Amino acid sequence: MTELERLSHSSAHTYNECGERWRLERVEKVDKVPWLAGPAGSAFHTMTEVYDHGIETGEVGTYKGYLVEALMEDGVAFDQDYNPMPGELERYRVSRGETYEWWCRAGDHMFDQYVAWRERSGWEVWESPFEPEWNEDGSATINGWMFGVELPFEVMLPGMTVPDKGYIDRIFSLPDGRIILVDLKTWARERTTTQLPHYFAVAQDHLGIPVDGVAYYDARLGRPTGIAYPTDDPEKPWDTDRLSALLLPVERGIIGDVFEPKPGSQCGWCSVAHHCAFKLEKNK
Ligand code: SF4
Repeated sequence: MTELERLSHSSAHTYNECGERWRLERVEKVDKVPWLAGPAGSAFHTMTEVYDHGIETGEVGTYKGYLVEALMEDGVAFDQDYNPMPGELERYRVSRGETYEWWCRAGDHMFDQYVAWRERSGWEVWESPFEPEWNEDGSATINGWMFGVELPFEVMLPGMTVPDKGYIDRIFSLPDGRIILVDLKTWARERTTTQLPHYFAVAQDHLGIPVDGVAYYDARLGRPTGIAYPTDDPEKPWDTDRLSALLLPVERGIIGDVFEPKPGSQCGWCSVAHHCAFKLEKNK
């Protein structure tokens, strides 16, 4: 029986994509071959988060600074000029020539595009329609006030024994009054997950935020994509019941030690493939 403390969208997605990968990563904790796009995306998230908290663009700093910080957290060593020590980045996989140097250039461009889009779109960060009351050290609100930047949640869904935890990247108020939940995306690969409907159900049914729609913000294009308004459908397509139906089998499978290997195209970007006995080799 595997001990499980919580579930998240990414954990459930990994499990559904390949149970063996979930087991190797989270039970066996084997060494992984990470993608550079991971810390590079984190750096963009942190940089835009600072900006969306109202810091002037001139004070936000450079993308390289955020990338160095993200890589240091990952254990990468830098010299005194903040250049990576020789060989330190060799363990990362890169795709399409998107190296450390590429990200240092592209990251600032992505940030500039984000600022330009925020200014021209009129989309404003959503916040609760009442004044916040803070605790003594000002670190948290005590009256349920929420601000739509990296909004944390921890909810217990019906029938489940562990909480569903995560962060919603952004919630924006549009000029026409609608409210949109947004996930920031820096990866080139198309997203084919249930993340947006998952977070939509949590925001509506558990956080009590009257969300009208969902979208990705594509940092490479510099604009939102895939905007959808689930509430336009009278048969509300995503709610807590459907979310539970999605997560319950995952919870039961993990606790019951059901880790089905699913060799397929995902083996090509699997970070633990070098430990896997089921890896699908190309052209075999
Ligand atoms: S290599 Fe393929 S089958 Fe093996 S863990 Fe990774 S995704 Fe699963």
